[in-house]
Amino acid sequence: MIQKILIANRGEIALRIVRACRELGIKTLAVYSEADVQSLHVQLADEAICIGGPKSTDSYMRADRIISAAEIADVDAIHPGYGFLSENSKFAEQCASCNIKFIGPKAESIRMMGDKSVAKETVRKAGVPIVPGSDGPIDSEAEAVKVGRKIGYPIIIKAVAGGGGRGMRIAHNDVSFAKEYHIARSEAEKSFGNGSVYIEKYIQNPRHIEFQILADSHGKVLHLGERDCSVQRRHQKLIEESPSPFLTSDLRKRMGKAAVRAAEAAQYENAGTIEFIVDARGGFYFIEMNTRIQVEHPVTEEVTGIDLIKEQIRIAAGEKLGLDQNDIEYRGHAIECRINAEDPARNFTPSPGTIGLYYAPGGHGVRVDSHVYSGYTIPPYYDSMIGKLIAHGDNRKMALERMYRALSEYLIRGIKTTIPLHKAILSDPAFIAGKATTAYLEEFLSRTPPDLF
Ligand code: ADP
Repeated sequence: MIQKILIANRGEIALRIVRACRELGIKTLAVYSEADVQSLHVQLADEAICIGGPKSTDSYMRADRIISAAEIADVDAIHPGYGFLSENSKFAEQCASCNIKFIGPKAESIRMMGDKSVAKETVRKAGVPIVPGSDGPIDSEAEAVKVGRKIGYPIIIKAVAGGGGRGMRIAHNDVSFAKEYHIARSEAEKSFGNGSVYIEKYIQNPRHIEFQILADSHGKVLHLGERDCSVQRRHQKLIEESPSPFLTSDLRKRMGKAAVRAAEAAQYENAGTIEFIVDARGGFYFIEMNTRIQVEHPVTEEVTGIDLIKEQIRIAAGEKLGLDQNDIEYRGHAIECRINAEDPARNFTPSPGTIGLYYAPGGHGVRVDSHVYSGYTIPPYYDSMIGKLIAHGDNRKMALERMYRALSEYLIRGIKTTIPLHKAILSDPAFIAGKATTAYLEEFLSRTPPDLF
């Protein structure tokens, strides 16, 4: 039985977890940094403990302080959300050794999928297609160039410990490859404390299509369909939708089966995501598994009607999944826009500060997941996402129209946000036609005058 949960996160996801717990009758403990006193999740949780200074390395990344708070408040489980300690296998182990349930997979699965080259090898053995690339990390420039030539240009260099779209470099020939290899290594060292890199064939203009997985502790693994996250800036997602306008039902079936096989190969438990890139001809390749809940989970919730956070908690409590693969029904279309405190007209510079008037849209089929409100001050220490707007409709056209309507109602005064950019994208014929690949946003930005957003 889980009766009380510590939420080791902040922002909208912390609030999302508070809400799920409330509905399940589970008590919540918020832990927060000195910069987050004002956050809605701190105010709405049953209890709250300040765990340190504003910087995440002094608070949300401090496993020792989080575990101390968990012991003081006598919680049964910790929900890590996304980011911070959510994919830290040592933290999952520490929780287990203190007899606190980590709401996520076993430490071993996190470790296996967290090393991207081990992850690729594991799923390849299970028969899941992967992008051609190096077998494991590459340790010297000479070896890098040799493998690069064999695979053929262009090539993408990625950090073994990478995440968040950072540490990736693209090379088009031997000369640029040697240079990019060294840059990638030093960036990886700086960002992740691990300079190890591997290389892959760079698939031109692919789509990013990922599958939501739910797996219980009794060996049942299901997928809940896909999310198309092709609208990205610098490899970071901005808009996500489900179903993908690109997939045929045959391809969806094959990818869904591959996703389940990949999760089984990781002996996965709890919610996770199998990410693929898909080329223009429908060839699909595993790129990574995220062993946690994702930012874009609400689009899956809207089309399947399944509350993923509640499922995570039930799975952690040892319950069996009550559904079979064929019981999952998909209804209509959902789309999510990430609302970031950034100025899209000025190269997306962060725009922290105090929100004046805040008015969130509502009405049929509209959902807002956000921890901010009128008078809230956005701290400059964390990522710039301040909320997510999700629209659902009977079909893609209705979902897009509803999203545009909701964006038009959304008022956030005092700071710059990505709302005007989203409106411009939602009005763009190429996006409306469902043609966006991962190259789309850059191309859109280059042909759209910034005063339009
Ligand atoms: P991260 O963990 O940093 O998010 P991913 O491996 O998930 O990194 O890749 C993020 C994005 O980078 C993908 O959605 C895709 O747009 C792009 N990408 C990654 N690998 C490739 C590849 N081999 N070819 C083309 N694009 C890629």
